[in-house]
Amino acid sequence: MDGRGEDAQAIGIDLGTTYSCVAVWKHDRVKIIPNDRGNRTTPSCVAFVDSERFIGDDAKSQGAMKPANTIYDTKRLIGRRFSDSKVQDAMKLWPFKVIQGPADTPKIVVSYKGKQKEFLAEEISSMILVKMKETAESYLGKPVKNAVITVPAYFNDSQRQATKDAGAIAGLNVIRIINEPTAAAIAYGLDNKSDINGKINVLVFDLGGGTFDVSILTITKGDTFQVKAVGGDTHLGGEDFDNRMVEHCVWEFNKRWNKDITGNKRALVRLRCACEKAKRILSCNTQTSIDLDCLHEGIDFCMKFSRAKFEELNMGSFNKCIETVEACLRDAKMKKSCVHEVILVGGSSRIPKIQSMLQQLFDMKVLSKSTNPDEAVAYGAAIMADKLSSNSNKSFKDLLLLDVNPLSLGVEIKGELFSVVIPRNTPIPTKKSKTYVTCNDNQSAACVKVYQGERAKSTDNHFLGKFTISGIPPAPKEAIEITECFEIDANGILTVTSQILSTGKTEKLTVVNENGRLSKEEIEKMIEDADKYKQEDQEYKKKADAFNALEDCIYNMKKMEHVIADATKWIEDNQNATVDEIERMKEHLESMCMPKF
Ligand code: ADP
Ligand code: MG
Repeated sequence: MDGRGEDAQAIGIDLGTTYSCVAVWKHDRVKIIPNDRGNRTTPSCVAFVDSERFIGDDAKSQGAMKPANTIYDTKRLIGRRFSDSKVQDAMKLWPFKVIQGPADTPKIVVSYKGKQKEFLAEEISSMILVKMKETAESYLGKPVKNAVITVPAYFNDSQRQATKDAGAIAGLNVIRIINEPTAAAIAYGLDNKSDINGKINVLVFDLGGGTFDVSILTITKGDTFQVKAVGGDTHLGGEDFDNRMVEHCVWEFNKRWNKDITGNKRALVRLRCACEKAKRILSCNTQTSIDLDCLHEGIDFCMKFSRAKFEELNMGSFNKCIETVEACLRDAKMKKSCVHEVILVGGSSRIPKIQSMLQQLFDMKVLSKSTNPDEAVAYGAAIMADKLSSNSNKSFKDLLLLDVNPLSLGVEIKGELFSVVIPRNTPIPTKKSKTYVTCNDNQSAACVKVYQGERAKSTDNHFLGKFTISGIPPAPKEAIEITECFEIDANGILTVTSQILSTGKTEKLTVVNENGRLSKEEIEKMIEDADKYKQEDQEYKKKADAFNALEDCIYNMKKMEHVIADATKWIEDNQNATVDEIERMKEHLESMCMPKF
């Protein structure tokens, strides 16, 4: 292998709302890389405790101590505006503070080293990506630069852009953004290649911690993946189930002791943690209990939780999942009997009620469990990463991915109406144009507002950005034609070009800061900051290691006191010892005193 090839090794990262996972193609198979704790998935969590920064498992375990400084769920923030109702709803439940930054971007506020620090969601996500990158580097024993990162199929343009930016801040070259369910289907396709003759239709049901994603794909001969339709909800997942359990416990606490614990952050964090554990147990057992000492004002809290109660509390969400699956089938124009396999992905797909509802819907006796629900996404991303990297062993030369655009894209026209240029579920990459006419006499400029969504009124959709095309020659209204050309690349990222047909003048939409998109300079500044934090972390670790070594030394010396005392006593007790025995004792003593390397 040449040097260039070595450097081009690419990894696959599943950057999840709650857990992230990294994988690489090595020795002709996918390796899911365990982190420094030996875990195959890493909590997507960053904690700032006094002057130390923790990422992953360590951050999660510190969470209850410093809830206001322990950041999770940034995937719910990324690429969204502060005033977005989904952000406002999520904020009510977060123990950490989020404020409105310039251009309505949400900023996370923490106290770090005695000072208030503000971070963008992209920055926190980049810290998690750095952790995944380092995990891969320590496994591969060399630096890693290239990565494929996955996003929910339902992510809009800004969310995809922001994820790419997070990758750049982490020092990664994001060679492709792919959809999580597509990645899971690739994993399934590779594992079942020999059993797939001709074409099969699969439905990927991915229910994670924060998002729900459904995709219907046709797999041909195990290596062509054609996405037929995608659907989902960027705000539905395991955390919602936890929240409902928490709400129920809060209500129960109030009923028993007439005390409202919603103001007690620490109690809520402890409660949420206990509920999440109970929820996992309820996937195997039909009953469990929640037990917390001194939860609030010295009161111990203990209550039984049954699987039936859990299902009753969450039935609304479960039904929503099934409705989304049905809508996706309609979009794909596919009868449910044509679905050959349902692939379960995401930790929450382990919930028995969800599995039985799916089984019932598809009249299936068993659901596919051949892929690991926690690892399938990273697994598929690693395959894609290898295919795209220059040192690919060409195992996947035939692998072809035909993805779709998840949400309709278009412009606002007169009367705040939304005019669709690229309908949802159009295969990507794609380029489509639509021609519009001016609406006023002698109109000299037109403001092009770009939206993404399915609502008839433009402002009910997600605003992506706007730009002005000027220099329209004087003419009566409707006489001048302007063409809007929408182009989506393989990452699902959009460019809009406007052209005045009579003059040929064009204007391009570069998604501006107003839309919350980071500029190149801002990203560069953040890369510098990330390096600074990394160095600080390393210095902190060096200092902690030095202290540890010193304490170790003291401990060993203290141990020597016993050894010397024992040896002295040995002399008193063994006056009749032989020369051999005495010499052996001396050797033993010397070996204990020798410095160890
Ligand atoms: P994401 O991709 O959103 O990060 P994951 O796929 O890692 O999420 O799933 C995490 C979610 O799955 C969490 O909400 C977790 O509580 C839930 N989960 C994990 N195992 C189980 C289980 N056995 N039963 C129910 N929920 C589970
Ligand atoms: Mg996931």
